[in-house]
Amino acid sequence: MKFDTKVVRASTKPDKATGAVVPPIYQTATYVLEEVGVDKGFDYTRAANPSRQLLEEHLAEIEGAKYGVCFSSGMAAVDSVLKILKSGDHVICSDDVYGGVSRHFNNVLIHYGIEFTYVNTSNPHEVEEALKSNTKLLWVETPTNPLLKITDLDAMNKIAKSNNLLFGVDATFATPVFLRPLEYGADLVMHSTTKYLSGHNQIIGGSIHTNDKEIFDKMKFIQKTIGAVPSPFDCFLTMLGLRTLHLRMERHNKNAISVANFLQEHPKVSRVAYPGLKSDPGYEIAKEQMSGYSGMISFELKGGIPSGKHLMNNVKLCLLAESLGAVETMITHPATMTHAEVPVKERHARGLTDGLVRLSVGIEDETDIIEDLRQALKEA
Ligand SMILES: *Cc1c(COP(=O)(O)O)cnc(C)c1O
Repeated sequence: MKFDTKVVRASTKPDKATGAVVPPIYQTATYVLEEVGVDKGFDYTRAANPSRQLLEEHLAEIEGAKYGVCFSSGMAAVDSVLKILKSGDHVICSDDVYGGVSRHFNNVLIHYGIEFTYVNTSNPHEVEEALKSNTKLLWVETPTNPLLKITDLDAMNKIAKSNNLLFGVDATFATPVFLRPLEYGADLVMHSTTKYLSGHNQIIGGSIHTNDKEIFDKMKFIQKTIGAVPSPFDCFLTMLGLRTLHLRMERHNKNAISVANFLQEHPKVSRVAYPGLKSDPGYEIAKEQMSGYSGMISFELKGGIPSGKHLMNNVKLCLLAESLGAVETMITHPATMTHAEVPVKERHARGLTDGLVRLSVGIEDETDIIEDLRQALKEA
């Protein structure tokens, strides 16, 4: 089966009982046993549910993974990976990770005796230099949120394999349409399904995919033990969105290239971060490792914070909202919204300036998106 066909059809089979093309939502907490010790593969929805299983199998097929495990949020998925570790373990993590990830590491997991070092994973030497005798996990986000930094997964895999590290990749921004980290040797890949995979701003969810039975068993155990599971209805909605993923990503990518080019040439814009621009430091690796550049752009205005605020307060079509990866174009101010809890000093050291604007380019007509930005930039 070709990739696009998998996106549409991978796990969907007509319902055996009725022939319904869309499988029913199994909105149930529990299941009747046939007799003591004999069930039909399901005993309690925290452990397993048919609507969730369908989504897990579908996502795994698209990812080219043997296994999929779904969670109630991207953060619950990240947390579940970290639950593999023990007190005293050390993690090397991309420095420009999603703000919620570093918030969790620095404010919660640190109290459980897990140590974190943040480095620019775009530079493999920094990763090597951060290695310690107790390093257990290499956590890479590519492209990063919000600066769209690109990490060379081949280089990371070499470091991970020669140092016996678990190698996890948050590929939320790329989606399996443009990047499949397991093909580059990652032990597991993580997605916030809230974003492109569901794609319609309707659900919060996350997933983990792996080819390693041992990792899968651990993830399943953590999933059922801790219980951060998505509802059957959320799984149904995710499946609904998922089946047009390839079409949406093509359009997100095409629109973002046009918007990035428009921004780069705009006299009020000082810097554009988009891995699909030849001038972007991540361009060469992205071109080799990804089959598209996705729909996320970050940029900075010459007028700094006041100009950025003016722009965000004057857009009409673009929605001023957190989140990304949905059909609608959304504009975000990372410093006060998604990354507000990253300490100011650290934010600035990372290049996450107060004037930075993040754009999740939607699948509307690109001329409308550009027109909206043009009018909002006029007085900015
Ligand atoms: C949104 C996001 C997360 C967290 O996912 P939630 O579904 O919001 O919990 C993790 N990583 C990246 C890159 C994200 O964009």
